Amino acid sequence: MKILIQKFGGTSVSSIERRKLVANKVLMAKANGYMPVLVVSAMGRKGEPYATDSLLSLIDEKFKEENKLCTDLLLSCGEVLSTVIMCNELSKRGIDCIPLTGGQAGIITDDDYSNANLIKVNTDRLLSILGKGIVPVIAGFQGITEDGYVTTLGRGGSDVSAAIIGAALKASKIEIYTDVDGIMTADPRIVSEASLIEEISYSEVFEFADQGAKVIHPKAVEIAMKANIPLLIKNTMNNSLGTIINNDGENKNSNVITGITHLPDRVQITVSINDNLQNSNYYSLFNILANNEISVDLINIFPTQKIFTIDVEKLECFNSVMKSFDITYNSIKDCSKIAIIGTRMRGIIGIMAKILNCLSEENIQILQTADSHSTIWCLVRTDDTEKAINALHKEFNLG
Ligand code: ADP
Ligand code: MG
Repeated sequence: MKILIQKFGGTSVSSIERRKLVANKVLMAKANGYMPVLVVSAMGRKGEPYATDSLLSLIDEKFKEENKLCTDLLLSCGEVLSTVIMCNELSKRGIDCIPLTGGQAGIITDDDYSNANLIKVNTDRLLSILGKGIVPVIAGFQGITEDGYVTTLGRGGSDVSAAIIGAALKASKIEIYTDVDGIMTADPRIVSEASLIEEISYSEVFEFADQGAKVIHPKAVEIAMKANIPLLIKNTMNNSLGTIINNDGENKNSNVITGITHLPDRVQITVSINDNLQNSNYYSLFNILANNEISVDLINIFPTQKIFTIDVEKLECFNSVMKSFDITYNSIKDCSKIAIIGTRMRGIIGIMAKILNCLSEENIQILQTADSHSTIWCLVRTDDTEKAINALHKEFNLG
């Protein structure tokens, strides 16, 4: 049995017209000799009635924080609705199908509510359904604990569900359907000339996903890579071939830079020794942050100061921790970390210079930089982000 996982994102299941297109993809998979297994997200995006954020707004902030088990059960409802509504559409087209919650599909997790981790997958029920030629339609983004409580897998978690199920069933392929043609050289909402990347390696796309390109969840890439299952990103609305992610991907692309992405909502922190004389806590700053679960990046350490960034969500916690250790610091809010990604940049001289020149010609102030063998990061102000990404995209001829 050739199993094909087909995951459909929020916009793909949001209207009856779109759900008809989903049914076309399922019929096509069957015609090509595959046994499809669907994974669906909640209908629509932020602001729409059954989207995850809308469900979350139904309960109080305090209750939400103190009752994570309840919050996860509420959050899981959006995807459950989608499974039944999708089955309605598939049935009209003569497809024998059955809706399943994540737990019914056998996804067993720990009890780290809102960000649960996979323990195992019980494939018995799925295999028996597939054995009867019935298409399972699984609610994404959710699992169940060993004692039967519903959990969720974190934002964008339906991609993770698709990869988990794909690996457990040893699927031939995992297709992720969304509202763009595939992975592009930049977010097409920011760069109108962004072009489709037809083939890309797991490691490069992991970098893309990890650095803010929300088109695919980094965990999903990791799971598919470990299971050695090709991952495809496709558009529900057309028949374009999309992006194929596998181990050979990087050989096909000749550009030094593959693409550009960014992480918004960064805050740059500078802690100077001169502001913290006689405070020994200055020297254990990073231990203090780690003990308080504040993750930092773009770390630059100089003899007289330490510079790094944190997520704005952690700012309040950071402020109170610094206060309790009597550490003085300066901050710049509203920053974005731009990542210029390309595994072929290793050993090529002059790329950083090109980036710095390009941004300075646009009068964009660079607050910080960092680099690895496959990525160069530049911290800029949020207001400059779109201009910077567009300028760099042009500079490296990615359009
Ligand atoms: P879904 O609901 O289908 O999971 P998402 O909103 O999670 O869809 O992901 C699709 C969106 O990702 C696109 O609409 C696009 O704006 C955004 N995106 C960000 N970076 C990229 C990129 N490099 N290539 C393609 N899409 C991107
Ligand atoms: Mg998504």
